[in-house]
Amino acid sequence: DEDLALLEGDQGEDARPAVAQNLPVVAVVGRPNVGKSTLVNRILGRREAVVEDTPGVTRDRVFYQAEWAGKDFWLVDTGGWEDRVQGVAYRVAEQAEVAVSLADVVLFIVDANVGITTTDEQLLKVLRRADRPVVLVANKVDDQRGELEAAALWNLGLGEPHPVSALHGRGSGDLLDATLEAMPEEGRGSAVDRGPRRIALVGRPNVGKSSLLNRLAKERRVVVDEVGGTTRDPVDERISLGGKDWTFVDTAGIRRRVLQSQGADYYASLRTRAALDRAEVAVVLLEANEPISTQDLKIIDMVLESGRALVLAFNKWDLLDEERHAQLEREIERDLGHVAWAPRVNISAETGRHAERLVPALERSLESWDQRIPTGRLNAFLGTLVAAHPHPLRGGKQSRILFATQARTRPPRFVIFASGFLEHGYRRFIERRLREDFEFTGSPIVIGVRIRE
Ligand code: GDP
Ligand code: GDP
Repeated sequence: DEDLALLEGDQGEDARPAVAQNLPVVAVVGRPNVGKSTLVNRILGRREAVVEDTPGVTRDRVFYQAEWAGKDFWLVDTGGWEDRVQGVAYRVAEQAEVAVSLADVVLFIVDANVGITTTDEQLLKVLRRADRPVVLVANKVDDQRGELEAAALWNLGLGEPHPVSALHGRGSGDLLDATLEAMPEEGRGSAVDRGPRRIALVGRPNVGKSSLLNRLAKERRVVVDEVGGTTRDPVDERISLGGKDWTFVDTAGIRRRVLQSQGADYYASLRTRAALDRAEVAVVLLEANEPISTQDLKIIDMVLESGRALVLAFNKWDLLDEERHAQLEREIERDLGHVAWAPRVNISAETGRHAERLVPALERSLESWDQRIPTGRLNAFLGTLVAAHPHPLRGGKQSRILFATQARTRPPRFVIFASGFLEHGYRRFIERRLREDFEFTGSPIVIGVRIRE
């Protein structure tokens, strides 16, 4: 990938998280104590786990970038989730379901010395329903004697069991080879050229997600895309709006109430992340009649982190009075300045008010998300801009912009080659002007800087 080569040596402030990079995601799933974390550490080696932090965004430290045989992928340690969701409410099947919906490949770990337990059986059910390649790992095979027990796992019907010792490294190379074989070229997030465009409808509980979905689905033709054939699976719905088909991803997650248990928020947020992972554009639903909350802002941050296009929809507009309207405008100015580029629609799922305005907003955002600026035009734009507003002098030295190119789309990513460090404020200035001149409405844009002496 020439883009990747080009991006090496970036200043690095704009490190992208897993889903934005579209690297395949490998999830390590298994009941407690089978050796998930040990295996993850084994795969990562002693190279410290790289967890990408986008400024202002905290990631759960369970996503690690890994590499084998020259291929990069993301490794998800669900063992790490156990620490996050402590106590009685920890539910192994729920955890697996979320992991599976995030993953392109699942590594299912069992303890070969113990064999299959009832908890393993529970996990198996989730895995069998899921439409993902599963690599069966028979762990704790520390020596040849254990291989017999491992072979007994053939009868799970998950294909060849791979005997490994996560602790000592035995068999881990073969396991990784098998994992690569099962892996798609890129993450599913990128498999977007085919079929209708994919929308994640996200927002905190009670903002009206399922009401909106019902409203949209009631009036239009709906085709239910079932994955695996049971209602407990992630289900996508195809809805025709404005004369076009759209896929709303993981509508089962919207319609199914998250159980009020410990850790429910955590799983809801993983579920949102998983939906974003599979979408191209997010509609973040907010409640017009209530103050913008930290939870709303957290969800917007998750969208930004995902690199997806963004539409903000203020729902329950029917409940709004003059006073609240004025207040809302002030809140938007105060809290949503960082996403001022996102289109806003004011709707009511209840009455149907302006629901049709979602379509042009979605289209505009996706157009920006897909947009590619030809290199010639980009450099002409930058030439003029930089001549009028040069980078500030620092210590008698002046960083100059030499050349720029758009390395990627979805979202647009630019690489600027400069003679020295470009200050944050200056990059923000360039971003703002890029947005204005090329109308990147509704899409995040990323600017990387590469320094050439
Ligand atoms: P997790 O709960 O699934 O993440 O499991 P851990 O990675 O924390 O491992 C649970 C226990 O099993 C720890 O004491 C590990 O040292 C041990 N363990 C993990 N892998 C192996 C292995 O391949 N062989 C042996 N003998 N023990 C292992
Ligand atoms: P979800 O948790 O985000 O899926 O939210 P729901 O769709 O379940 O809606 C939560 C509550 O808000 C329900 O009582 C809905 O009837 C109500 N609601 C949803 N949209 C609107 C709206 O536009 N106007 C009004 N007045 N109520 C709404």
